Amino acid sequence: MSATKGKSSLKIIPIGGLGEIGLNCMMFEYEDEIIVVDCGVMFSDLQMLGVDFMIPDMSYLKAHKDRIKAYVITHGHEDHIGALPFALKSHPAPIYATNFAGKLIESKLAEHEIDAEFETIEPGVPIKFKHFTVTAVSVNHSIVEAMALFIDTPLGKIVFTGDFKMDSSPYYGDPMDPKPFQKAGDEGVLLLMSDSTNVERDGHSLSEERIFHKFEEIFSKPTGLTLVAVFASNIGRIGQVFELAGKLGKKVALLGRSMEQNTRIAHESGYLDNLNSVLISVDAIERYPRKDVIVLSTGSQGEYRSALVRISAGEHKNIKLTEGDLVVMSSKFIPGNEKAIGRMINSLFRQGADVMYESVADIHVSGHANAGELRAMIKMTKPKFFIPVHGEYRHLVKHARLARENGVPKENAVIAVNGDILELTPDRLRITGHVEENRVFIEGESGSDVAKVTIKDRRKVAETGIVFMVLIRNSVSKRVMAGPDILTRGLLEEGTEGDLFEKAKEVVLAIMDDVAALERSKPVDLQEEIRIGLRRYFYSRLGKKPVVMPIVIDL
Ligand SMILES: [Zn+2]
Ligand SMILES: [Zn+2]
Repeated sequence: MSATKGKSSLKIIPIGGLGEIGLNCMMFEYEDEIIVVDCGVMFSDLQMLGVDFMIPDMSYLKAHKDRIKAYVITHGHEDHIGALPFALKSHPAPIYATNFAGKLIESKLAEHEIDAEFETIEPGVPIKFKHFTVTAVSVNHSIVEAMALFIDTPLGKIVFTGDFKMDSSPYYGDPMDPKPFQKAGDEGVLLLMSDSTNVERDGHSLSEERIFHKFEEIFSKPTGLTLVAVFASNIGRIGQVFELAGKLGKKVALLGRSMEQNTRIAHESGYLDNLNSVLISVDAIERYPRKDVIVLSTGSQGEYRSALVRISAGEHKNIKLTEGDLVVMSSKFIPGNEKAIGRMINSLFRQGADVMYESVADIHVSGHANAGELRAMIKMTKPKFFIPVHGEYRHLVKHARLARENGVPKENAVIAVNGDILELTPDRLRITGHVEENRVFIEGESGSDVAKVTIKDRRKVAETGIVFMVLIRNSVSKRVMAGPDILTRGLLEEGTEGDLFEKAKEVVLAIMDDVAALERSKPVDLQEEIRIGLRRYFYSRLGKKPVVMPIVIDL
């Protein structure tokens, strides 16, 4: 370990969120102490294969669990809190979060039946650990109570922005105050780690205020029911819908479990103050004139099992859309989800509804800073070193470039990816090693992890179909007593098989005759030979190698 002026170096280890947008998790390690900042999930593009989301590889945490002093959470988005139940199960430590994020985490842990120790973060109040002192500073974002973290270390100050934007009129809370950042910059910032999500967008991000006016215009002239699809965590956006509903004499119904849960938690935390006078249950919708009802729904990403997808297919038990109804998609289309969203929007139009989305109407603003705000952050904090975080690889490269153009020496802006071990001293930042870094795939319903090989198998079955072969053999004479029987799924349309299966049986019997003659093959060896033989046979007939499951039983 390198030492500068008698001090240890500081290790910074990202195990998620660098080179991708999702599953953010960053470790700060100094001697015998580790502080973990955020612990999130990423939704999977393998949903068709039963993988709902992914979590970071926590091998390093597991191996050093005695050193973990805290999980410090910047805000309550799933990509920052979703993996906490998995982390706490194997390496528990107290959770530091704001009131709202803490309540979201609590309800998540309750589902997993996990207890945890909670400490509430108050902006501006330092949290002291042995080597680290962490102070939260309020920023604007698409969720309430989002925090940047000032992390004082024995080597100097680190400014970790968290997800942020500078909004001149956020719906809840105040515009981000630049003074703490300027003050830190004047006193000296050793390292800035900043949100790279929207580095490719020039200028300044748009204010949440725009949404209010646009929504007011839309809600004022409905011909039918209005359905607003939004992230359940976007309490500011949801708050605007509630306020406008109150103002325009409308009712709001909630759709989706997370929407109900988050609005309840938000209400308990002092947001959505007119909730009780405006809220109706989904069952009560038909008791009101259709044009007086706004439905707030999750499912804006076209998620497979969401209520909105069911509505778009005309399969929802309470809500059937019809001519004159309007769906407002008030959220970003997350890259990777476009196809699913596109399908859903087409189906919504098919139901007769009209659909508004970001590319055709101003109904969404991002929660992340554009390049102009990112530049301002670099100029305010004047860091010696810079690490771009929270972005796909190209975002990290462009953000490092931006830092170099704004005063950070070329070699001091370091692009790191998941699993890198970064070592920081007062005069040096470099990548000195790597930790194990494999994605962990989680099945939503069971909540258990799925091995990579299992996913490979599922993909193979999905691509080629599956063939079962069963036969029973006399264990003494080694003669075939029953079978072979061939069953398939997903291989070809029923009734079109012709002599395909008959010939397959001949392939199996030929192998049996050949091997049985040797009279020493065990069922497992036979199965392997039959598997290879049948794959070869189906390839010659169909041009594809299906998954083959042979079962040989000795009686
Ligand atoms: Zn966020
Ligand atoms: Zn995020």
